[in-house]
Amino acid sequence: MTARILDGTATARSIRQELQEEVGRLTARGIRPGLGVVLAGEDPASAVYVRSKVRACAELGLHHETARLPATATTQDVSARIDDYNRREEIHGILVQLPLPPGVDVDQALARVDPGKDVDGFHPANVGLLVRNRPRFVPCTPAGIVELLERHGIPVAGRHAVVVGRSDIVGKPMALLLLHAHATVTICHSRTPDLAAVTRRADVLVAAVGRPGLVTADHVKPGAAVIDVGMNRIEDPALARALLDQERLARFADRGHALVGDVCYPAVREVAGHLTPVPGGVGPLTIAMLLRNTVRAAAGAV
Ligand code: NDP
Repeated sequence: MTARILDGTATARSIRQELQEEVGRLTARGIRPGLGVVLAGEDPASAVYVRSKVRACAELGLHHETARLPATATTQDVSARIDDYNRREEIHGILVQLPLPPGVDVDQALARVDPGKDVDGFHPANVGLLVRNRPRFVPCTPAGIVELLERHGIPVAGRHAVVVGRSDIVGKPMALLLLHAHATVTICHSRTPDLAAVTRRADVLVAAVGRPGLVTADHVKPGAAVIDVGMNRIEDPALARALLDQERLARFADRGHALVGDVCYPAVREVAGHLTPVPGGVGPLTIAMLLRNTVRAAAGAV
């Protein structure tokens, strides 16, 4: 069997087209959705993510601004920026890019965001609503994965879903969303013994770990839907040979690096029923959900 590849870029494009209509209706009412970003520190990956998010806002015609703070920023500095966004009417959504510098208390910062503008869904009030299955803002990556499954007709209800990873931003909310969609859910983490024995039982397998090639063909039940959340930069040629197909391997030889997920793509493609690529799988959906949450916040729909 060769897996059907789930094209996250195309799915995200359809969602953005739908949002474009919604933005048009809001604009006609004199409302321009606005996103305020707080970017603190010098993490190069964060800068890249923020650039993609801001570009996506611009393409959709949203107002956006970024408050940049140095790596020496304190909790007070970050809070001051959040307070400013909380107050201003033209800002409907606030995104605090993680990780924050060491001098900033992450929990305090996230709790400072007005829960009605919390488009990342990390405020404790929104986490609580998600747990109660009365979601307001849902974290963007797991929300995007649900959208991807739904739009490709991959059933979840009554099936066994296994989530590898238990972070607050991906693994836990993912498990809750799958549970609320009536899957039987198992969550795995670094202390799970014999991971492959657990993941092999999954009809829907979500890998959100951050370890290139962790999920091999041995971890996958034939025909399962495999969603690869991981984003890892690799520079090791041996790893590249194991994880990249021929076309990408040729590009790796030129560049000396590549972006891969947690799934050993060439091997798992031969076993799975559906598979998301990296890049071009979950990543674009994450951004599309951020846009959707911001538009919904502006529409007062949440
Ligand atoms: P975290 O580091 O916060 O969490 C990783 C999780 O993986 C932890 O729960 C950890 O377990 C678990 N884990 C680590 N090693 C193993 C192992 N050997 N076996 C099983 N579980 C293991 O990462 P995030 O959730 O923030 O991100 C995960 C990945 O997804 C990263 O590569 C990140 O870059 C990517 N990402 C991609 C996004 C996208 O839009 N595509 C968005 C967000 C993240 P424990 O809790 O026991 O330590």
